[in-house]
Amino acid sequence: MVKLAEWRGKELFGRYDIPRPRGTVARSGAEAAEAVDSGKVPLPCVVKAQVLAGGRGKGGAVRFATTSAEARSAAEAILGLEFKGERVNEVLLEGKVAIARELYVSIALDRSARLPVLITSPDGGVEIESVPDEAIDRQWIDPFPGLTAYARRRVAQRFGLSGPAAKSLDALLVNVWRLFEREDAELVEINPLAVVGDGLLALDAKVIIEDDAAFRHPEYAEIRDDRTPLEEIAREKEIAFVQLDGNIGVIANGAGLTMATLDVLKEFGGDPGVFLDLGGTDDPKKVTEAFLLMARAHPRAVFLNIFGGVTRCDTVARGLVEAMQQVPATERFPLVARIRGNNEKEGIEILRGAGITSVPDLKTSAQAVVAAAKGAA
Ligand code: GDP
Ligand code: MN
Repeated sequence: MVKLAEWRGKELFGRYDIPRPRGTVARSGAEAAEAVDSGKVPLPCVVKAQVLAGGRGKGGAVRFATTSAEARSAAEAILGLEFKGERVNEVLLEGKVAIARELYVSIALDRSARLPVLITSPDGGVEIESVPDEAIDRQWIDPFPGLTAYARRRVAQRFGLSGPAAKSLDALLVNVWRLFEREDAELVEINPLAVVGDGLLALDAKVIIEDDAAFRHPEYAEIRDDRTPLEEIAREKEIAFVQLDGNIGVIANGAGLTMATLDVLKEFGGDPGVFLDLGGTDDPKKVTEAFLLMARAHPRAVFLNIFGGVTRCDTVARGLVEAMQQVPATERFPLVARIRGNNEKEGIEILRGAGITSVPDLKTSAQAVVAAAKGAA
């Protein structure tokens, strides 16, 4: 999976005639000011952190500037920050546009349907996960005819667009489909797609390229920005650690239990953000290391769901308690533990000593962590 940074996605948009605001990338405050002074970026402008995580708008990683000095200080304020565990090394500067409406358009690969699906919503600009299902339209795409005129008209209708705006939308959808197909993407997402006067502009770009087609696209081989810096560190330490967009940290053992735990949290309205598979480790130091890595992703709450086998409950509890003591008080988060299996009693005792109660029931414990994550929001 190659996730492209927004600016790379927008470069692709440029090649496929998908309209986007004029802009460029900067790696320092001076470069940002220069981009404005040279006229590459019109004023007022937007300065956006180039990280793979979403939610930048809400998280202060998208700023506005009206002068080149402001563009410089906005860039300097963002560069070097750690946003959801990713260091910001680049900012994208673009002319700021007056948004009339924010729409949502994506084409994704629906693995269960074995087809691409066009997902659209008139409620753009917010995470699609938070949009009510009634406001989302899904049209599966038969790859042979491709994205049909009928399917495209349906989107225009649902968006309430007519005349020149509908024409722009039609062309845009054709081009998004072309990009999806030719680049072997598994996701092309534009959120928001802004209505600006009679036209449309892609204000954000999220493009993921399918790994299985890598041999057809040597040009993506050297783009190594698909792993977050924390995932990179984890890989070096041989810790199975994955970062998603949500806010709940999950620590489990074994791929099966880990995946099932993510599903259970989703079921109860939670939003898992980072997960750690302790696998078959029997070294409390390793657990401590893994846990501290998770802490750096700043989860709102953490769910520890362990079934003790080779990984004994007391090993995990020991590593965890040690790690908790190393996390600075200001960066602590609520933790819900559920440990069962091998050496369960010892594990529970160790946790209790550190003021952590193990909740044996899966439903109760999952609900508790979801509530804790929401409460801390
Ligand atoms: P994300 O939060 O990480 O998905 O970042 P986005 O690129 O989607 O930007 C977040 C929000 O910033 C958008 O939904 C817009 O509301 C706002 N934004 C981005 N570019 C512009 C712009 O050119 N003009 C205005 N008015 N708002 C913008
Ligand atoms: Mn966005």
